[in-house]
Amino acid sequence: MNRTTVTIDLKSIVSNLRYVRSLAPGKKIMAVIKADAYGHGAVRVAKVMESADALAVARIEEANELRVGGIDTPICVLEGVLNKEELSRARELDLQLVVHSSHQVDLHNKFGDSVPLWLKIDSGMGRLGFHPEDITEVFERLRGQNMAGVMSHLSHADDVRSDKTARQLKILEDQIFPLSRERGLEFNLANSAGLLEWEDTITDWIRPGLMLYGISPFTDLKSRDDLQSSMTFSARVIAVRGLRKGQSVGYGGIYKTKEDMRIAVIAAGYADGYPREIKQGSPVLINKKRMPLVGRVSMDLICVDIGEENIRPGDQAILWGDSLPIEEVAKLSETIPYTLLTGISSRVTRNYQLVE
Ligand SMILES: *Cc1c(COP(=O)(O)O)cnc(C)c1O
Repeated sequence: MNRTTVTIDLKSIVSNLRYVRSLAPGKKIMAVIKADAYGHGAVRVAKVMESADALAVARIEEANELRVGGIDTPICVLEGVLNKEELSRARELDLQLVVHSSHQVDLHNKFGDSVPLWLKIDSGMGRLGFHPEDITEVFERLRGQNMAGVMSHLSHADDVRSDKTARQLKILEDQIFPLSRERGLEFNLANSAGLLEWEDTITDWIRPGLMLYGISPFTDLKSRDDLQSSMTFSARVIAVRGLRKGQSVGYGGIYKTKEDMRIAVIAAGYADGYPREIKQGSPVLINKKRMPLVGRVSMDLICVDIGEENIRPGDQAILWGDSLPIEEVAKLSETIPYTLLTGISSRVTRNYQLVE
């Protein structure tokens, strides 16, 4: 019996993808499955995403893993390539590449080939991409290349009060959309938050990631009810102990018992991906009841106050999942669901609930 496990419900991913489609009827979906599909297992997830029009990963190595795993859906590499070797590898793997820099334009022109390219514009993210005012020149330099389309990325779409998304859109509408349209190129913009909150960011293509895994990108969990969370992180209780009044629990003794008490020791720690930063008192579910964390999270173990509950070694504790949203755990750890999902370590066993 595995001690520490993530269980991935592939059915819920399929259902989330269906929900994504319902929000953007007639649009094309580039499903983002970078970072091992946000910790869910890229090949397994890609296999149930057959209805996506394309997949996106960050790096060539990730695309390679998908091709080796038998995935033949179009795959876009969001970081594009760095050198000639990567470019020829991309060609062999039949990938689409983002082109976001002058260095990459040179590579594509010098080692010219027919790899489909997505031209990336920096409309305000301030990370990768060409400045909007340079687009005419870049189009000129890319003349003769096989263009898949044009894309940009939103930096503030999860902040519903920010005017930044509207400003990014304005820049794109004024300076980019007309030139793309003139060239018959499709545009690709909305991430999960854009799709859910900013209708005008829904262009020819959408590019959702997080919501495919049933998680809301918003701190107020907006839209959560329409999504099905797909990951359950669980671990075994390995000891149930009585502690005397005045004893301390764990490293640094940050928790002291106020009276005699019972704790369960659970086989999960920061080396599994449970956040060390999480506040004491944060809930862990055992037998469907919330029990508060006591003491520091250590490498392999955490402790919870079990009161009078009848809990035994071997019982299963849920660290996050359906009835304990990862968004809540993220907030209590002062982080975001993305870091928790991608921080599950290789020591943790992955189980899959299959699509019938
Ligand atoms: C990760 C990523 C996405 C997906 O974002 P979500 O917030 O997970 O929906 C889209 N586009 C780019 C360029 C990304 O890096």
